[in-house]
Parts: sequence; structure tokens; C-alpha cells
Amino acid sequence: MEDQTQTQIEKEYGCAYCELKFDSRGKQNAHVDNIHKQSKTLEYCDGIIRTVVRNTDCCFICICGRSYDYVKNLVRHVKSGCKEIKPSLNSK
Ligand SMILES: [Zn+2]
Ligand SMILES: [Zn+2]
Repeated sequence: MEDQTQTQIEKEYGCAYCELKFDSRGKQNAHVDNIHKQSKTLEYCDGIIRTVVRNTDCCFICICGRSYDYVKNLVRHVKSGCKEIKPSLNSK
């Protein structure tokens, strides 16, 4: 007979903004970053650091006009090279 009435979670990391819980701090931080952060500071490939702010539709709008629901998608876009940014090789 199996009778497990007690949960076996030793440590859990609860989100400060919602009810979700995570088994590692890394997952918790990623969740907060993706769901709850209102702005994200990123270094673009021209070396300039820009802050992208969540708009009223809960999307992050890149300077090129593309919108992203999740920080991770915005980060991936910026790292892969936003077309509005030209690498600073061209210094005319
Ligand atoms: Zn949350
Ligand atoms: Zn962009």
C-alpha cells in the first residue's frame, strides 16, 4: 500500500508575483524574467546598451518594431542580430 500524504519537496522557490513554485532558483529567476519583468536591459550588437520596456499589451517592443511576448525571445532576437542595428565595424 502506498500512502504518501506528505509532499517531498525539500526546497522550493516561490515566485514573488504569482502562485507558481520552482525547484531551483534558476528556474524561478527565468520565470520572473520571462513573465513579470517590466523592462529588460540588453546589449545590442553595436555595443550600445538599450532598455526595452513592456508595453500595455505585455509585449516587449524592440527598436526595430518587432514585439515579443517573452524576454527570452527578445534576447534571442537581439543576440542573433536585430536588423536595425549595424555592427560598429562601419565607422564612417
Ligand atoms: Zn510568477
Ligand atoms: Zn529588433
